[in-house]
Amino acid sequence: MSGESKHEFYEQLKITPPRCLAKLSVKVADLPVHFDNSPKSTWRLACGQCGEQAGFLLGHSFQKLDPTYVGRLIFVSPLAFKCSKCHTSAELLDTDLHGYHNELSLLEGDEPCGTKYRGDGEREEYLCSSCQNISFRLIVSFVYWPDAIEEILELFDELCSQAPLKEFFSLFLCYASCTTCDALSEPTDFGKL
Ligand SMILES: [Zn+2]
Ligand SMILES: [Zn+2]
Repeated sequence: MSGESKHEFYEQLKITPPRCLAKLSVKVADLPVHFDNSPKSTWRLACGQCGEQAGFLLGHSFQKLDPTYVGRLIFVSPLAFKCSKCHTSAELLDTDLHGYHNELSLLEGDEPCGTKYRGDGEREEYLCSSCQNISFRLIVSFVYWPDAIEEILELFDELCSQAPLKEFFSLFLCYASCTTCDALSEPTDFGKL
């Protein structure tokens, strides 16, 4: 890929959400805190039904899966956003289905298999550590590592024109802004996907 088409590709990525956001209404946003200079797409989430931005983040507390964990409240997937107005839930991210390694498995004809802690069963609502409120506005970001993307392009030369490169994100970031006290927190910490 030439430098120019690479640039074009990353510009396109910024305005093309990966499929895991399909059930939500999304708008291009800025990250609330600087991350790094990797190509990324960043989205403000809203309910796909009514457009409300305030909602609950559903997931599984990492601490419940690993009782030895000590630290801030962190959620693992599957994650969903539940609208605070019309109560519609929409799936947001599943580390067994989404992200770089799952997509690679799919391209290679294998079953996707997540490598992350993942919960199952009933999910809980993420809560603000400052005021215990459960309603947030969420910004999420998908970070693409150029080396990883180039590897895909080389491995799957023929496929790459159709391959959904926007699905090959290596990091997922999530920022939750509390609708009561405005505190900003990071509900997730997935590392390399
Ligand atoms: Zn709604
Ligand atoms: Zn709060």
